[in-house]
Amino acid sequence: MDKPKKVKILKFHPEKCNGCLECEKACSMVHFKTKDGGDKSAIRIIKNGDRYQMHVCDQRGLCLDMCPVGALTRRKNGVVWLDKDLCIGCQACVGFCPINAMRKSVSRIQPFKCISCGACVRACPNGALELVEVKIDEIKEIVYHKLGV
Ligand code: SF4
Ligand code: SF4
Repeated sequence: MDKPKKVKILKFHPEKCNGCLECEKACSMVHFKTKDGGDKSAIRIIKNGDRYQMHVCDQRGLCLDMCPVGALTRRKNGVVWLDKDLCIGCQACVGFCPINAMRKSVSRIQPFKCISCGACVRACPNGALELVEVKIDEIKEIVYHKLGV
């Protein structure tokens, strides 16, 4: 199979965000079937002064080769995918990710990450989130290096 060349990633429009966190709630519904948001959400919205920042996986896939059991792969649609059935919960990818986008919740041993499903985009009442298609080779910009920075 040819390697995927493109992937959809999240783009944030900070000027439209009012910090309602509907996106986090939608994402935790996808991953944990709860509207808790917070540490059960792959996307986090962080207040920085009078603005908000988005922190989420950019699907660059630097982690792909470091999983000791091969639980991280790039799917046909380009998304970096963590296979929960293969994952042994060693947390190596959580520590490795240079932008801290591999998430860990106390509710489950396996980490989780953004799968570009678009649930947060649909949930945002202000149009502050968008899924945009990019070339995988061109994902070089790191969005935010560390949560909260
Ligand atoms: S695209 Fe889906 S998985 Fe990614 S942050 Fe939004 S709701 Fe979560
Ligand atoms: S749902 Fe939209 S407006 Fe609300 S916090 Fe998320 S990005 Fe900001």
